[in-house]
Amino acid sequence: MAEQDDRVVEECDLCVVGAGLAGMNALYVAASYLGPRRRVILVDRRERVGGMWVDTYPYVRLHQPHPMFTAGDIPWRWDREPGHLATKPEVLDHFEHCLDVIRKRVVVKEMLGWELVSHDEGEGGVRIVCEAVDGRRREIHARRLIKAAGFAVTPNPPLRVQSCDVASVSPDFCDVRSGDIGDSGTPVWVIGGGKTGMDTAHALIAADRGREVNLVAGSGTFFLNRDQSFPAGHRRWWSGTLVSASGAQMLSRFDGTNEDRAARWFRDTYGLWPTDDADTYVLGIMSEAENRVIATGLTNVVMDRFVDVTDEPDGPQMQLGSGATVPLTPGSWIVNCTGYVLRDAEPYEPYLSRGGAVLSIQPRSATLHLTSFMAYFMTHMFFRDSVEVEQLYELDAVDLRRKSKVALPFGLLCLSQHNLSVMYDNLPNRVFLDCGLSVDRWYPRARQLTGALKFLATHRKERQRARRCLDTLRERFSLRCGPLPSGE
Ligand SMILES: Cc1cc2nc3c(=O)[nH]c(=O)nc-3n(C[C@H](O)[C@H](O)[C@H](O)COP(=O)(O)OP(=O)(O)OC[C@H]3O[C@@H](n4cnc5c(N)ncnc54)[C@H](O)[C@@H]3O)c2cc1C
Repeated sequence: MAEQDDRVVEECDLCVVGAGLAGMNALYVAASYLGPRRRVILVDRRERVGGMWVDTYPYVRLHQPHPMFTAGDIPWRWDREPGHLATKPEVLDHFEHCLDVIRKRVVVKEMLGWELVSHDEGEGGVRIVCEAVDGRRREIHARRLIKAAGFAVTPNPPLRVQSCDVASVSPDFCDVRSGDIGDSGTPVWVIGGGKTGMDTAHALIAADRGREVNLVAGSGTFFLNRDQSFPAGHRRWWSGTLVSASGAQMLSRFDGTNEDRAARWFRDTYGLWPTDDADTYVLGIMSEAENRVIATGLTNVVMDRFVDVTDEPDGPQMQLGSGATVPLTPGSWIVNCTGYVLRDAEPYEPYLSRGGAVLSIQPRSATLHLTSFMAYFMTHMFFRDSVEVEQLYELDAVDLRRKSKVALPFGLLCLSQHNLSVMYDNLPNRVFLDCGLSVDRWYPRARQLTGALKFLATHRKERQRARRCLDTLRERFSLRCGPLPSGE
């Protein structure tokens, strides 16, 4: 560390910005290339590691089996049954554990509470400027930079409502099961039918069976059936469908133009939804028991878009996107459970900088379906200098979500199918075997192997098909989707 004109300049081999799941996977992989004496600086504007899990609502649980939510293949430090859905404190504890494990492999200096302000790439690497909450600035010189903002989820504020007769709250800033909301006993309106909406409705119904809990669900969201995709105990030897297999079946029905039909087939075959209808799939998972509690516990379900609540002579009225209105009981609670993921459009940035020293893991230039997978595989490609910019596809997932929520999962899964095939030709087998993120690991090795052999036999052919679908999506929705343009 050197002092320069009152400014502290930190030197390191690698700077990783973002200490969420993406950053932790990038750090994990990078450590395996750097070795024990190399120095990494981990920067995050939050005060602790964990990304969005630091300030997401208190009753959030992991929706997949916890062992597959990790950095690389770091095991959880307990021996609970793998189907346990980890709670928020358990997830945050695992993040700390992952960092402890990584610290044994490489020197990590944490700069938590610091924000990336700018970076310039030059001959010797990257000059990075960060700022703390109190305005202090610090400069970092790094040979490489990984910007792992990932999904960059931020807490939801309460929805703005004109009415003075209802209260609007966000589950990220209060616990909807207790305090004023719990004590009042007045009706609750959960706005949003995605994972947060389902978690919130479930938490409210479970906390007070007599409570009036209502849902505004838009066009409806469906979820992968957990019981079917992750059968418990010995049943995993003979029943259930590997998520890679159900995903492949879903893609085999998609030709780039027919997302409505293909989504309906997938929903009816592998899905669950507690509302009358559901057309959107955001890769969420729900059990039959959770679905039952929500479906039977909700008093009213409105399949429409929430706009506002206004005070009318007869009392508060909820205004909906279709123009319809719903009368509300004075004192009702409006809980903002509208989506967080792919909501905010940061400016476009390519996944790899022109100079090749900055890797950027984020959904505007997505390379795989989830940021955890992107960070894991792209960091391998980055350190092996084998990022095949001519062959890999990028997809602006934020733009696709804006244009078609139904087409989004198809775009993301085609992208993964395409790019994993390219990566398979460029990375050693070990990288695939060591990836602990795949939920296929739920199944015994023999069943995983069948899936792996099928991938080996078909991936090049399927790559061509996925590419055709992505090209069609690009034309239909005027998307940024394809290889990085040369010179970008
Ligand atoms: C309510 C909810 C529930 C979810 N549940 C699940 C689940 O059960 N299972 C699952 O797999 N996924 C789930 N997800 C998806 C989830 O977003 C990912 O699992 C994952 O945790 C996201 O990690 P990330 O690193 O991509 O993004 P984040 O968790 O958002 O982390 C990004 C980090 O980068 C930091 N950062 C960004 N820009 C800067 C900057 N300029 N300077 C400094 N720091 C910066 C941010 O402060 C943040 O800490 C859920 C998402 C939501 C919203």
